Amino acid sequence: MIRIAIQKSGRLYDDSIDLLRRCGLKLDNGKGQLKAKIKNYDAEVFFLRNSDIPQYLEDGVVDLAIIGENVITEKDADVTHLLGLGFSECRLSIATPKEMIYTDIKSLEGAKIATSYPNTLKRFLAKNNVNAELHIISGSVEIAPNIGLADAICDLVSSGSTLFKNGLVEQEIILESEAVIAANKKSISDKSEEIEEILFRVRAVLKAEENRYILFNVPDDKIEIVSSILPVLKSPTVLPLMIEGWSSIHTVINQKDFWNVISQIKKEGAEGILVLPIENMIL
Ligand code: ATP
Ligand code: MG
Repeated sequence: MIRIAIQKSGRLYDDSIDLLRRCGLKLDNGKGQLKAKIKNYDAEVFFLRNSDIPQYLEDGVVDLAIIGENVITEKDADVTHLLGLGFSECRLSIATPKEMIYTDIKSLEGAKIATSYPNTLKRFLAKNNVNAELHIISGSVEIAPNIGLADAICDLVSSGSTLFKNGLVEQEIILESEAVIAANKKSISDKSEEIEEILFRVRAVLKAEENRYILFNVPDDKIEIVSSILPVLKSPTVLPLMIEGWSSIHTVINQKDFWNVISQIKKEGAEGILVLPIENMIL
């Protein structure tokens, strides 16, 4: 039995549920429950508050967790980071009001900084030999300078639009973060096979996300030139069409090459190009 923690509601919830589903772990709508059994797999999912997850993981209440790296760092949890998941990307930054003169980190000497990430911020300031006063608040940190509560803030940023709206300028990036799968240290040895099986599935899902299945038709005399353009896994599949002299080519290409490849093969005579998402990819 493997126990997996995910955030019970909030920013990581939908992507976490979606990842489990794509790994073939079916769970009834978990909202509002503390824990749910997976119907078709020997696992349980715990729905916990984000900030509680590192402790539960460290203590071995759960074996695995889907959690923002930033939370693990803040709690300084003794857990093992296994795999980055590519969602909930953000950074922990220091920002100051746009009127404030900021030259470098030393400009924060003696300043009052509002944050929900005191430990990470303290470590950063200590490393840079800056003494500042921390004002710990649990939410809406970005309004603190406007209401006279602080001179600067340290908060999570993704697009930066919240900072902009509040007249703040990002000055220092303390930490980059994304959702990760992390594990309890003892579980890694005690349940190595079960954890490896989950990781195997997650990797297949992530790999699939990076790639697209494409198929298109070309005249037979173009098969060679078009194939040479395709950055393929092995060699493309070529199937004859009913119409004499035409074939259909099927292959998998990486998302990042995608538009480049499409425009080149179009130029070489590819027609009826279809692009499909891939559910899983096992190499
Ligand atoms: P709880 O589950 O205890 O209510 P919370 O309110 O901190 O925790 P959310 O705001 O739902 O939880 O999610 C916060 C997490 O989402 C962060 O820890 C971080 O990993 C991720 N995240 C990604 N982008 C951002 C962002 N722009 N602002 C805040 N969090 C972000
Ligand atoms: Mg919340």
